[in-house]
Amino acid sequence: MVTLHWGTATDVGRVRTSNEDNYLASGRVFAVADGMGGHAAGEVASALAVSAMAGLAVREVITPEDIIEAITRANESMVSVSRARGHELGMGTTLTGLALGSVDGDAQIVLFNVGDSRIYRLSEGRLSQVTVDHSEVEELVAAGLLTRERAKDYPRRNVVTRSLGTPIPPVPDLWLLPPEPGDRFIICSDGLSGEVDDVEIQRVARANRDPLTAAHELVRLANVNGGSDNVTVVVVDVAAVD
Ligand code: MN
Repeated sequence: MVTLHWGTATDVGRVRTSNEDNYLASGRVFAVADGMGGHAAGEVASALAVSAMAGLAVREVITPEDIIEAITRANESMVSVSRARGHELGMGTTLTGLALGSVDGDAQIVLFNVGDSRIYRLSEGRLSQVTVDHSEVEELVAAGLLTRERAKDYPRRNVVTRSLGTPIPPVPDLWLLPPEPGDRFIICSDGLSGEVDDVEIQRVARANRDPLTAAHELVRLANVNGGSDNVTVVVVDVAAVD
């Protein structure tokens, strides 16, 4: 048995007029989706993505294959809604999260990602970014064409290279991690990572034992630092494994 504790927070930010982020915290499946597209299409896309993942939570056993299938199905539903609306909206969304899954009978934390929302892991007091952004800027850095330092000022920072809502289903990245008591996962939209650097996220994650307080404090800081985007944070703690 793996016991998880969690807390969530979301906010429109200080610039945008609507919140197109959506999130899920169901006990066994947790996700953040950052919607894109005009005329509320982003909100629809991110809601479709999280509801597809919510469908997983009722299963007795969740496998990595189930997660891939749910993401593929969410993508299909987005494409058909988009088609029904005449494509005028260009609906899409990121989707990142984790599920308490099972592989060959062993409990595993399965992380999944499409797009530039992120998952950080705080383990023994040290924060690391687990997911790799599917973004133009990250690909330029990986190819050695842009330094990490100059990437901060790259003008097309928000261009994603993988998302849901595309005719060709996106391939999600997956990670399998054995559940470790004391580990904390921070799932967030780029409204957090764009405003609050890793050092500060680590400081807040260490200072706030309660996941709900930690999530709210991170959202508050994103707004203090500018709040230029919608911001969503889901904090998931591995409380016990027995
Ligand atoms: Mn965003």
